Amino acid sequence: MWKTVIGLEIHAQLLTSTKLFCSCPANYGDSPNSNVCPVCFGLPGALPVLNGEAVRQALRAALLLNCRINRTSSFDRKNYFYPDLSKGYQITQFFHPYAENGYMEIEVGGTRRIGITRIHIEEDAGKSFHDEERGETLVDFNRCGTPLIEIVSEPDLETPEEAAEYLRRLRELLVYAGVNDGNLEEGSLRCDANISLHREGEPLGTRVEIKNLNSYRFLQRALRYEQERQAELLERGEEVGRETRLFDVKSNRTMVMRTKEQLLDYRYFPEPDLGILRIEEEEIRLAGSTLPETPALKRERYVREYHLSADDAKILVSSPSQAAFYEETVKLGAPPVKAAHWLLTELLQHASGSDPFLTPPLTPKAFADLLVSLEKGRITAPMAKDILPEMIEKGLSATELIAKKGIALVDSPEAVKAMVKGVLEGLRPEVERYRAGETKLLGFLIGEVMKSCKGAAQPKTVNQTVREFLEGKEE
Ligand code: ADP
Ligand code: MG
Ligand code: ZN
Repeated sequence: MWKTVIGLEIHAQLLTSTKLFCSCPANYGDSPNSNVCPVCFGLPGALPVLNGEAVRQALRAALLLNCRINRTSSFDRKNYFYPDLSKGYQITQFFHPYAENGYMEIEVGGTRRIGITRIHIEEDAGKSFHDEERGETLVDFNRCGTPLIEIVSEPDLETPEEAAEYLRRLRELLVYAGVNDGNLEEGSLRCDANISLHREGEPLGTRVEIKNLNSYRFLQRALRYEQERQAELLERGEEVGRETRLFDVKSNRTMVMRTKEQLLDYRYFPEPDLGILRIEEEEIRLAGSTLPETPALKRERYVREYHLSADDAKILVSSPSQAAFYEETVKLGAPPVKAAHWLLTELLQHASGSDPFLTPPLTPKAFADLLVSLEKGRITAPMAKDILPEMIEKGLSATELIAKKGIALVDSPEAVKAMVKGVLEGLRPEVERYRAGETKLLGFLIGEVMKSCKGAAQPKTVNQTVREFLEGKEE
């Protein structure tokens, strides 16, 4: 049996208003090449100035990942040529990163602690666009110099599922803190995976690095493919090459991108234009004071305070805006379990986009109102489902709609009793047969009452009232 070892390198774009070393806006979605300056291009004489906001964001991420913060760290040049990197080098922290020795916990079966080797601050490169039709490549330098952190994990992950869970939890944490927008598809969060196989008790095998895995699914599929490919090689007594590979979505395989011989030599050396990065105790304390309740703590609290299942808590917490919407609904009086259930089933059907609660389909107040009406028995669940789309479409409250449609239930016990009595008195023969022991008629009798009130009473109340009537308590 082969043991698998996986380590992830994750690049996360820091949410800052300006770039890492200049004051250009960090909005690279703007019109191409509009947010650029001599520092972005690395023109002769241009000098980088470190962005304090980026350092604060990086600090917050490191604290969330339980890292030791190095009171001094420094920047280095990573040299390589690429059309979208006109400077010919990227500024990063190679020799002395600002944060090391952290960990994050994931739940897969039990709790597993995954080590974080280091986090460093670096700048992003630009972006090339290949226009196949015109046979042209265009370059947008807007992304040049936008701030990133690279989070390097220990090779502690043992399965593709664990790797995906690690990425999921890490993304959630960063999004919660407002450090990163979590957009894997658009590349504001990027994942490279390292994987090797070895036999129990033997040293780790040669790792292969798979670049640019931009979804949980692709990450798992690429790792599964590599597990099989490497096991086959090793079974045949062959060696796994120290390669960089790419995952091809169509064929579901990884392909060689660079071999060991082609591994780049970046000629790292200390960046001469930047001084040492000193981080004071006070700055660490301040950064720590701005951290949100972590998703893990939130999940625990939902189970403890709201009595949700662990699964529901996990899904609700997976997006900060969704969790905020949920909490607000509960604060406004909605019963917590019902609110969770309705949010995750009914409401989500009417929501769209990758983060539907950023602009929710209705307000927490309207949603709470609906759930309270349901809880109080003014409407039934099918009625609530019925009016929800209209509430969303017309922006009406549940109370307004219930009144407008005249669908409020007969909710006083007296009214239900009177109605049951009225219907059952018209069904004397059946009632007599029931009383003579033909108990299977119960369903029919309840059905008749429900039919005659057109659903305008809670089935539970009708049920109970019919039974009481049949037992003769009402005569
Ligand atoms: P590089 O920048 O050359 O890719 P890093 O040190 O930044 O190197 O990243 C190495 C990554 O590979 C880390 O996430 C680490 O956990 C992982 N790794 C190291 N050795 C192995 C191995 N034998 N098998 C799988 N992953 C490994
Ligand atoms: Mg690396
Ligand atoms: Zn600039």
